[in-house]
Amino acid sequence: MSSTSDCLFCGIVEGRIPSNLIREDERTLAFRDIDPQAPVHVLVIPKKHLSSLDDAAAEDGALLGDLMLTAREVARSEGIAESGFRTVVNTGDEGGQTVGHLHVHVLGGRSMTWPPG
Ligand code: AMP
Ligand code: ZN
Repeated sequence: MSSTSDCLFCGIVEGRIPSNLIREDERTLAFRDIDPQAPVHVLVIPKKHLSSLDDAAAEDGALLGDLMLTAREVARSEGIAESGFRTVVNTGDEGGQTVGHLHVHVLGGRSMTWPPG
């Protein structure tokens, strides 16, 4: 499994950096965002290091599906599946990405607005 020693989220995968973990399976991890932007704000990441969605290859298709299915499970376990929730993948500088390890934000527990900032 690829990882980079200077990647924050690889550090969480490897247990070198603490996290508020809520879900783990063979290929994905879900933990609470350290700076929540909604009553529920969870990050879902692949254990494999991909620096962004732009770094994903065709062979990562199943893994991308796993991330979405984990996001759905998080929404259910956090009690926001029925009320509704938002999934966000920020990519690159103008996309607002600040951590270079692919992650899906799962946000809920309040009404979301559109367009996003
Ligand atoms: P993005 O801006 O889309 O790259 O999102 C990165 C997210 O990671 C932000 O919402 C941060 O609050 C969050 N974050 C940064 N460091 C940590 C950490 N150590 N544990 C949990 N979440 C973090
Ligand atoms: Zn990483």
